Order: sequence, then C-alpha cells, then structure tokens
Amino acid sequence: MHDEQASAPGATDRSRDLSYAHYIAKFDRLAAGYIPAPGTWTPVDDALYGPPDPFRVPYAQALEMQLRAVRFALERHYHQSRIYHKLCRERGFAPEQVRSVADLDRVPLLPDTFFKDYPEGREFALWLGNIVSGELPRVVIQRSNPSADDVVQAFNEAGMAVTFSSGTSGRHTFIPRDRRTFLAAEYIMAKSVVAMTYPHWQRDWHGYLLMPDPRRTSLFAGRACAVFFDVIGDVRVAVDREVTTEVIRLAMAGQGGIKGRIARHVARRRWQRMITDIIRWLELHERDGGKVMFFGAPFILQRVLERLRRQGRRFAFGERGWVGSAGGWKTFEGERIPLADFRAQVEQVLGIPQKHCLDMYAMVESNACMLQCPEGHCLHVPHPFFRPLVLGDDGRPLPWGKWGRFAFLDAAALSYPGFIMTGDRVRLLERCPTCDRPGPVLDPEVNRFGDAGVRGCAEELRRLVAADLGNMEP
Ligand SMILES: [Zn+2]
Repeated sequence: MHDEQASAPGATDRSRDLSYAHYIAKFDRLAAGYIPAPGTWTPVDDALYGPPDPFRVPYAQALEMQLRAVRFALERHYHQSRIYHKLCRERGFAPEQVRSVADLDRVPLLPDTFFKDYPEGREFALWLGNIVSGELPRVVIQRSNPSADDVVQAFNEAGMAVTFSSGTSGRHTFIPRDRRTFLAAEYIMAKSVVAMTYPHWQRDWHGYLLMPDPRRTSLFAGRACAVFFDVIGDVRVAVDREVTTEVIRLAMAGQGGIKGRIARHVARRRWQRMITDIIRWLELHERDGGKVMFFGAPFILQRVLERLRRQGRRFAFGERGWVGSAGGWKTFEGERIPLADFRAQVEQVLGIPQKHCLDMYAMVESNACMLQCPEGHCLHVPHPFFRPLVLGDDGRPLPWGKWGRFAFLDAAALSYPGFIMTGDRVRLLERCPTCDRPGPVLDPEVNRFGDAGVRGCAEELRRLVAADLGNMEP
C-alpha cells in the first residue's frame, strides 16, 4: 500500500494544541487506572497511550510507531503462541523478515472464522487456552461437562478477560484477552470517543449504554464499555440483566423450545419497559438541561425513535446531545436502515445534529475502534498501533480506494495473535475526503462477504489445532 504520503507538518498535530492538551489530560487523569505505569511501556504502549489524539498523529510518525508496535507484537506471538508459530513456519515466514513498513504486508493472517471454530465441553477450555500467547493463569473448571459460559467464567475468575460476540449463525467468536490487553481496548475506545467529540466531552455527561451491563456480561461490546463508568459521571444501562451465550441463544427466534418461547415473551415485555425508561430519561434531561450521550446498539435507539414518532413527540437537545452507535445491527439485520437515514431520524426526533451522530466500526477480535468523524462520517483508523489492510481475492493487499476483504495487524492484542482477516467487505482511502485528520479512513458502508473465501485457510488451521489438542494433557 502507498505509505509514503506525509501530511502538512504540524497542521493537525494535537501535541501542539494547548487547549486540547488540557482537555485530554483531564481524560487521562480519569482513565489513569487503564494506563500502564511509566517505565514499563513497550513500543505497543507508546503507540497506544502516547499520542494525544489517535486520529491526528502525523502520517510518517504514525507509520514509524506502527512498525515498532507490530514488530513487538509479532515477536511475542511468533515465540509464545503455538498456533501462530506453526502458521508462520508453514508459510516460511519469520519476524526478522519485517524490516520496513512495506514488509508488514507479508505477516501471516488468521481468518476470523478460526475464533469461532471451537469444540464443546472441556475441549473448549483447551482450545481457548491454546490460543493464548504467553503465560496462562491456573484455570479451575468444576463441572465435568462444562458449557461455554462455565468455561468463560472459569477463565475470567482466573484473571483473564474472555469475551464473545453475538453470532448471527448461533456460533460465537471467543477472544481470550489478558488484563493488560483488555484495559488497552477499553482505554482506546473511550479515548477515541473523547478525541472525536472534542471539545464537547465532559465528566458531567449523562450516558445511556444501549447494551448489556458491562458488569454482568462477557459480551465484548458490553463489557468493554465498563470504562464509561470512569470517564462519565452518570451512566445508565439499557439491559440490566445477566447476558450469557445461553441467554442470547434463547432470545434468537425459533430456538430453545418452550423455554425459548417463554424467554422471548419475557424479552418482549422487557423491551417495552426498556423503551419507556429511555424516554423518561430523555424527558428528565430535557427539563434539567443536562448533556446526554447514547452509546451502543442502534436498533434500540431506533425503537425509541419509532415510539416517539408514533406519539408525535419531539425533543430539542441540539448540541447538548451525542449518539455513538456501535455493534451494528447484528441479530436485527432485518430492521437495518442506512446510517444516513438513521442520523436524519435522530436529528428529526431528538433534535441532535447529524454531526453529533457517529457510528463506530469495532469487533471482538480487535482492540481498535474505527470511529466516524463529525465532518464527513468516514471511519477513521487509529493507525499508530493498528494497520488496516484490504485484500483482493488472491489475498494480496489492494491499492487505496478498491473494495476488498478487510484485514488488520492489531499490535494492541498481546494475549492472542491480532493479525486477522475478516469477513467484512470494505474500501480504504488514504485520507478523509472531508476533514483534515491525516490518517487513513474506511468507507462507512462496511458489509459482509460470504465466508467461502476464508474456508480454505480455516481448514488449514483446524488441522493445526487438532494436532495441538492431541498433544496436550487434558
Ligand atoms: Zn474525517
């Protein structure tokens, strides 16, 4: 890919902006518990915690950080992840081959399907442990035939942060993070939001998480939001019950027999109550003049907007309001509406301007959050620690502007190899056509491929894993 472009020197470099420095220092004080102690920073930490604004690092400087950070992560996974080491050996690849930014395109990638190709029961625990790079804590599993939720709980009680994503097909993606990696994911998500909403973020925002309670779920999109309790004074949660893979399975249409039908009936009544609660909260802050922010699943807010429209009601939050949509539409794919229509409805019903309605592209496998800019609604990539790639049918990187398969090298993933090829179809631009942030952007219209293209590679990995499981003590 063409990485030679340099931005105008200092034009948008946040490190020279005093009022921004003051703003982000306030955030960093509240997020201090997420930042590793000074003196322990690795090249990955330099890239994660160093830049005052992850989206405004001058281009050449960002690439230098990216190269150092990815090489550090690559060394680690090559030597400490059995699976990744084998994959590299099969491809005839060694970390020493990466000398320049251009060489990063040769780093072997795991298909995202690998992380949902898990066995059941105790084998699942072995499979999960096998992905981890580095030391695994002692995990105690009580039951002889544990469910996926039991295994996740056992890992997390041992100090890991294993999370999953809600799979549309009923298969979940499981990612084992250690504490440091999970804190990094939370920090960078919150910092991305705070940087992109500059100068509006304040601790006295009233936040509404349109997702499960971070303290009661291992769903990645939910749990990663725990950081908002630290940087926003008043946070409500839309889904206040425990959300496990079993709960998600029962909530999906047509599953679980009578138990499933009861679960869905209860879920419908909860839905109604959830919408009522959100509307009451809007009324409260319309009266008290508070600043409000929604963050989470857009289909929940969509239901709120629908009810308000039916009742012929409108709010006028103006610049006091923000909407951060994340997690896509997933199980509500049928209700999906174009992002531009969603923004227009938010503006019409809540009075929140479209430039305050930003979508986020994130996934359980990565620790980066690609966030839209207010000016042009393109998805900006925090590239000091995260290298985005768009691959053609032959698996080779495509030039800027071409549609292809999204892949990435995520240096922030230290407990699992974050060099991953996804099933998403994207287009990467060298820079934003609208705003002056220097980094690359994704076209906001991300869509899905069928998984056929990565099946071959998944097969290869399944073989590697099977060989490994056979060699391990239960
Ligand atoms: Zn932009």
